[in-house]
Amino acid sequence: MNTPISRATHRKGKRRRKQKRNLTWLVLLSLGFITAGLLYLNRGFFTQQTKESVSTTTSSQTSSTSSEETTATTSTVSEEQGVVWEKQENPVNLPILMYHAIHVMAPEEEANANLIVDPTTFESHLQALQTAGYYTVTPEEALKILTENVLPKGKKVVWLTFDDSLWDFYSNAYPVLRKYNMTATNNVITGLTASGNAGHLTLEQLKEMKDNGMSFQGHTVNHPDLEYSSLEAQTMELQESKSFLDNQLGQETIAIAYPAGRYSTETIRLAQESGYKLGLTTNEGAASAANGLLTLNRVRVLPHYSPELLLQAMGE
Ligand SMILES: [Zn+2]
Repeated sequence: MNTPISRATHRKGKRRRKQKRNLTWLVLLSLGFITAGLLYLNRGFFTQQTKESVSTTTSSQTSSTSSEETTATTSTVSEEQGVVWEKQENPVNLPILMYHAIHVMAPEEEANANLIVDPTTFESHLQALQTAGYYTVTPEEALKILTENVLPKGKKVVWLTFDDSLWDFYSNAYPVLRKYNMTATNNVITGLTASGNAGHLTLEQLKEMKDNGMSFQGHTVNHPDLEYSSLEAQTMELQESKSFLDNQLGQETIAIAYPAGRYSTETIRLAQESGYKLGLTTNEGAASAANGLLTLNRVRVLPHYSPELLLQAMGE
């Protein structure tokens, strides 16, 4: 019936339905926004994850499967690496190899002969390490090993370090490291990279290699003898090199290699205050937590080292 009342009621009902429909749209729209927001946030998360897993696949070696290990109480599975870490009873020894240049020595370089390893020799070292079952660690894994006294299941560990950010790390060492699916750390003289000094790694090279699993840690800005530098100079060298790497590579730099292995007790204190967690010296031997985390031993790799001599120097 088309009475005024019934029409009014009809209109009212229509309005109510309209309101209801509007409300539904509002809810749907809000849900849409929330979903979009969540997706956006997740996107950042997933890109980060993918980035990590990409660098993981290129940098890390194949490791034992984790499935059978999940029940063991002494093992923890690191998600990023798929590595099974096992708590050790005895203090862990971590050989930290120290290389500098990897190229065929020119006659005029005789004075630096002890710092230059031939690329063929270098490859024979990596081959020997692989055959002997070594797992090459990142700085973060080195920190984990030394602070938690753990080892990756079924693996020996070695940290490959190169000092001085020389050009040949990119041209000669990096391709061989990738060939063997190994990772290494180059300790950068940041002043030389920042100024684009010839003969040293460029920032673009650092970024490319970092994306492919290599890591870069501190070796001061100007490579001074820290032991005999003023406290102000030491602080500047330690802090500015760290912030350069932190900012340019988007990382937290945790290790410092003291130039020429020289440091004083003040250097150690300042390094710690600057945020470094590991300090690399040139004191000979395998590193252990007993060294003190900011005064870790290293194994100097000499140019004449055959694979056998290298393994011997590492304490095999
Ligand atoms: Zn150096």
